[in-house]
Amino acid sequence: MAENNLEEIKICIQILPDMSEEAQRKAIEENPQNAKSGLNFIEKFGDTVESSRMALIADKKWKPGRTLRVRFLDGDPVVHQKIAQVAQQWSQFGNIKFQFGNDPDAEIRISCKLGAGSWSYIGTDALNIPKNQPTMNYGWLKPDSDNKEYLRVVMHEFGHALGCIHEHQHPQAGIPWNRDAVYRYYMGAPNNWNKQDVDNNIFQLYSKNITQFSHYDPQSIMHYAVPKQLTTGGFEIGWNNYPSATDKQFIAQMYPLPKTGG
Ligand SMILES: [Zn+2]
Repeated sequence: MAENNLEEIKICIQILPDMSEEAQRKAIEENPQNAKSGLNFIEKFGDTVESSRMALIADKKWKPGRTLRVRFLDGDPVVHQKIAQVAQQWSQFGNIKFQFGNDPDAEIRISCKLGAGSWSYIGTDALNIPKNQPTMNYGWLKPDSDNKEYLRVVMHEFGHALGCIHEHQHPQAGIPWNRDAVYRYYMGAPNNWNKQDVDNNIFQLYSKNITQFSHYDPQSIMHYAVPKQLTTGGFEIGWNNYPSATDKQFIAQMYPLPKTGG
């Protein structure tokens, strides 16, 4: 990646899982499988999530087979159409569908406020957000943005909406960060993060105790690009624009097709 491209890195800000009792109750109500004791977001995120004492949540998965309703709260119809077209592609890999429309009870609400960053709540956490508020935002997609950029950003944010978390924070990631360069870069424009944002989004790894993690996958759509200017020894990972083979497997596991008889 050339030095002059470094300024153009635009990445998603991960929203930490909501560990309030209400959010957990809703996750389990949606999909009882979310309540596997012993494997939970507390182990993945450690102290970075505010946890209630009895947190038992393993995941924030929707019920397999679900059709999730999606509604745009603002923005350009051309952008809407492009986002919808890309997002639907997740349905090829798992038993989950998105229905775009104007349903006031839509589970996923999208805002396209330019400059507000790109982010999404994780899986069923969207159920705990008031219905007039967005659960996902696209901060830089414009009608004429590159199709590759649509793929990269929309597949990533919908990955969060399906319950996926960031891959570069996998316990086995082992990225040789140049920490000073990372702080300098992300705390500057256009990201303007504070130190805590950098720690939460870049350096913090999920706990090694997690057994349901698949092996570390640098090709995951949930992985940030890692330019060599931010690492030591020339290490770099390019832009991932589409779900990897492992991502597809993971979604198929999370949202299995119903077993057919025999
Ligand atoms: Zn993200």
